[in-house]
Amino acid sequence: ALAVPTTNAEVAALDTANVFHSWSAQKALKPMAIAGGSGSTVWDHEGRTYLDFSSQLVNTNIGHQHPRLIEAIKQQLDTLTTVAPAHANHTRALAARKILSHAPSTMDKVFFTNGGADANENAIRMARLHTGRDKVISRYRSYHGNTGAAIVATGDWRRIPNEYSRGHVHVFGPYLYRSEFWAETPEQEAERALQHLRRTIELEGPQSVAAVLLETVPGTAGILLPPPGYLEGVRALCDQHGIVLILDEVMAGFGRTGDWFALDAFNVRPDLITFAKGVNSGYVPVGGVIISEEISATFDDCVFPGGLTYSGHPLAAASIVASIEAFEEEDIIGNAALIGRDHLEPGLASLADRHDVIGEVRGRGVFWALELVEDRQARTPVSAAFMGKLKAELLQRGLLPFIADNRVHVVPPAVVTPEEVRQALAIYDDALTAVS
Ligand code: PLP
Repeated sequence: ALAVPTTNAEVAALDTANVFHSWSAQKALKPMAIAGGSGSTVWDHEGRTYLDFSSQLVNTNIGHQHPRLIEAIKQQLDTLTTVAPAHANHTRALAARKILSHAPSTMDKVFFTNGGADANENAIRMARLHTGRDKVISRYRSYHGNTGAAIVATGDWRRIPNEYSRGHVHVFGPYLYRSEFWAETPEQEAERALQHLRRTIELEGPQSVAAVLLETVPGTAGILLPPPGYLEGVRALCDQHGIVLILDEVMAGFGRTGDWFALDAFNVRPDLITFAKGVNSGYVPVGGVIISEEISATFDDCVFPGGLTYSGHPLAAASIVASIEAFEEEDIIGNAALIGRDHLEPGLASLADRHDVIGEVRGRGVFWALELVEDRQARTPVSAAFMGKLKAELLQRGLLPFIADNRVHVVPPAVVTPEEVRQALAIYDDALTAVS
């Protein structure tokens, strides 16, 4: 057995010697060691604590080590630790029911996956088989996951219903601060982005478009709340052309925006919803697709050519049930909404009053972005070096930030307290002063 390490350097050395990291050149990596956590706080091996305003990868919506989830996972461990997806399993059935109880009433079933990427893979597959078409339209500013080739590399019959010759088309979505449409108001931005999507569908050929896939609120791309009317307009275009609307709620769902689903704030009913992250805060890897009655019926008599060994894993399912029950009983959604409205919105606005480098503050619930610019007029993004310095200043003051391009994403757990927000705002303030 490995000796328990006592220093951060020891852990980092062991890690970089043997662990191959995501999205990185490996040689210069200096990963921060995290030994434990509780609620909105994490700590290292040397007793230093950090306010986790990253929620890791924006997934610990219920905070670290929530006792109800830990207990439910332990109970399930003592009962059954794994089961093949083809069997009926009580915990899995309960997890599906719990998820559906908070989804739009038109939704009927849940297909479980291992995470968000394969949730989108399977949603796209369902849309293609349901429509008999193959193109998928999504946005340039989006992230939907890191898979793609495994089923097409597969040799047996399961490859064939998944082979598509044409593929993906990208469009610009609404982003008023950096409008691609010369828009000056949210209404113009929504209308023009819709016109751009309408023309794209027409020119691609509506009969070839299976799905429009959108993050309800693009997350990693900058927390871009859709302007009023946009999602409703996308739904109308999909209805007009028989296109499946997939809303990716992997990051935005389960409390992030202060709603059960981010789509709850809009008058839009998708055909498929993908989820992961916040559904159980990543205590056990899981994701899935919530399927409408209509699409589910397509597969009543026709085989769905998709599946995963761990689909609906009992430990994940147990943590989902416990997490949703905790959300309900502890009003965690209500807390996220209140923190957004009464603490983050005014707090970040006054931060912007004091720091010219903040070009825009936008968000909702516990899902906020500070867009940092060299010049408020020209909106030139600050440099990567600036962001690197800011990150170091934040860490030094005990805040674990989420940095993306020229933005700080202020994304604490949905259980964050007003006092923790107050401390975090003071740290952002000091760190911005230090770098400016
Ligand atoms: N979709 C969205 C909106 C995401 O933010 C992410 C991950 O950040 C994914 C999909 C992919 O999820 P996973 O990393 O669990 O595969």
